[in-house]
Amino acid sequence: MNRTERARITLDRLRDNIPSPETELRYRNEYELIIAVILSAQCTDARVNMVTPDLFEAFPTLEDLAAATPEQVYPLIKSVTYPNNKSKHLVGMAQTALDAFGGQIPSGVKDLMKLPGVGRKTAQVVASVAFDVDALPVDTHVFRVANRIGLVKDATTPHAVERQLKRVIPKADWGEAHHLLILHGRYTCTARNPKCDACPLTDACVYYERLQKLPDPLDALDPKKGRYYCKTRDHYFDDPATHVDRYDVEQIACPRCGSMNVFDAKTGATTKQVKDFRVN
Ligand code: SF4
Repeated sequence: MNRTERARITLDRLRDNIPSPETELRYRNEYELIIAVILSAQCTDARVNMVTPDLFEAFPTLEDLAAATPEQVYPLIKSVTYPNNKSKHLVGMAQTALDAFGGQIPSGVKDLMKLPGVGRKTAQVVASVAFDVDALPVDTHVFRVANRIGLVKDATTPHAVERQLKRVIPKADWGEAHHLLILHGRYTCTARNPKCDACPLTDACVYYERLQKLPDPLDALDPKKGRYYCKTRDHYFDDPATHVDRYDVEQIACPRCGSMNVFDAKTGATTKQVKDFRVN
């Protein structure tokens, strides 16, 4: 299956499973949206939605926020991540929008990126959601899910993921794909313990396919003989070597023969790992 075909299947199946693919941030206009998206960097949408009602009430317009100080904003957002920086960014964003864009939130990605606190991803989310601009923002969920499913290949940065996704997803679907992949990553293909049993993509997912190829656990190993068991050489050892496999994952290896067919002697489970593309 090529990546274009994989992307088509992915979007079709996710559409069937996620009836309303849209942002979970609560906002009423582009001013509130850009604030919510800035606050959501490295933070959950649920947490952001808890603080924005009071923030929007205290600073209902761009002008109100531009006239404020970061110290006035801080208490209202102190429960989100990085409240110090985000207070400064919010005030700076409002002042720049007032001075450079006539008090409007600009609609283009390049102009949006001139606002403090607005990086490439934030700019694309605002442009796509508020102004219907064709954009495909890549956050931690899109990054992980696109790599796991195999919609992208050897993409190690969000920008690389974005470029590759845009090649295999039709432009008209970029905005929808962004929301579908985020929601799939948030609720099903989670960073820890993805819920593959409940996923509609198992037959199209490279990560799942590799998981199926991991060796079954072994019975009757004796941990008294050593912490690890090398099935290739049939012996136990305590101090493993390591080996980086062809997928760039560091694996535990046998110090004698270099085999990665190594098991935990206590549990019988394989020590082999499948790269899961979590962003730390
Ligand atoms: S099969 Fe598993 S790893 Fe693949 S997309 Fe579904 S939940 Fe994620």
